[in-house]
Amino acid sequence: MKKLETEVLIIGGGPAGSTTALYLSRLGFNVTLVEKKTFPRETLCGEFLSKEVTDVLKDLNIFDDFISLKPNKINAFRAVDSSGIEVRSDLNFEAYALKRSVFDTFLLGKAQSRMVNVIQPAEVVSILKTKSDFISQIKDNSGESFAINSKLVIAAYGKQNVLDKKMQREFVNEKSNLNGVKFHIPVSLLNNISSEEIIIYTNQGFYCGMNRVNENEMTVCFLEDRETSKIPAREKLVDMIKSNKQFNKVFSTEALQYIRSVNIYGTGNIYFGKRKLIENGIIMIGDSARVISPLAGDGIGMAMESAKLLSGIISRNTIDESHRKKLYLDYVNNFDTAFTKRLKTAGIIQKFILGTIFRKIGFGFANKYPAILPSLIKFTRSLN
Ligand SMILES: Cc1cc2nc3c(=O)[nH]c(=O)nc-3n(C[C@H](O)[C@H](O)[C@H](O)COP(=O)(O)OP(=O)(O)OC[C@H]3O[C@@H](n4cnc5c(N)ncnc54)[C@H](O)[C@@H]3O)c2cc1C
Repeated sequence: MKKLETEVLIIGGGPAGSTTALYLSRLGFNVTLVEKKTFPRETLCGEFLSKEVTDVLKDLNIFDDFISLKPNKINAFRAVDSSGIEVRSDLNFEAYALKRSVFDTFLLGKAQSRMVNVIQPAEVVSILKTKSDFISQIKDNSGESFAINSKLVIAAYGKQNVLDKKMQREFVNEKSNLNGVKFHIPVSLLNNISSEEIIIYTNQGFYCGMNRVNENEMTVCFLEDRETSKIPAREKLVDMIKSNKQFNKVFSTEALQYIRSVNIYGTGNIYFGKRKLIENGIIMIGDSARVISPLAGDGIGMAMESAKLLSGIISRNTIDESHRKKLYLDYVNNFDTAFTKRLKTAGIIQKFILGTIFRKIGFGFANKYPAILPSLIKFTRSLN
């Protein structure tokens, strides 16, 4: 069997994997990234890009190229409850929205142009830790298998993966009943939509975020608690639109028809609890490390920040077997310091929004005291 050698192997070419690859190649490491899908590809996401994303893009000197992709600028946040109560706040930070098919292809392309060895489409199917190194088995899309030897393996394979099961990660049998769905809809089918707002519509056991991703399209992305109702996701969305007067105003009759047949991207049973950051010597980043509530619109930001944080503590010395323990410890401590507060805040707000009584109380309070909103937004991300 063919065997390749690399210093660092990264599994997954989403925002976490590509960002790590960009930082580590800048530091002079020999990096191989394996991505199982052919790009461009869509993926479940509200496609809101928070300030943390732009900060990392600037740090990597690729912000101007990102802007040339014409992302839509987002300046304000609005939340509208089924009770009719509405709250709004300026964002007070730089944010954009862009299709993930475009954004992820851009980032991975940048990594490839900066000397990262990208193997795509190919899937990492197993990882064996030897005494000093790692041997990973890869299968490409023609079914051919080969092995990659590396000093370090970084898992950036997202929130749910067969590798989680293979590694017997603690959370794999947890049931959350929380499902996410995304699709794009032409702006021409919608009424009174501002291009510079991210809007969240809420109802019992459900919230739906919408923002414009280019001149013609809007992303519609929702999280539903399947415990409250088991009807198919599309039908549930149409029901919510019909029963929520504010939400209803946005969708034309043609829009409701469009929803019934559009391609949707979804994931079931999303686990938001704590995960181990190191599994059998493999370092977890991005969603593989921890999933933040989508309500915060900060998952991509956290994925890219965790990549920057990890890259900042990796050196030739620390990837050596005799020093890896310190690398692991530093990463775990820095991760907790950087992300614990925002993960907790976002989790609490999500619980409030999904629960009826709490949601109404929360909306009433925020409506009466709107000054609380910028602080809440700030607590869900790394703003100074
Ligand atoms: C409903 C919902 C809405 C969201 N909305 C937003 C939002 O608006 N803004 C925001 O910032 N965040 C949002 N998020 C979160 C965001 O989507 C994630 O945090 C982000 O995608 C994490 O990036 P990642 O690189 O860790 O993982 P991913 O983006 O999932 O990338 C993982 C990559 O690994 C590849 N892969 C998987 N397994 C293998 C394997 N074995 N071998 C090789 N490759 C593999 C996959 O093909 C994929 O390309 C949302 C999440 C949900 C659930």
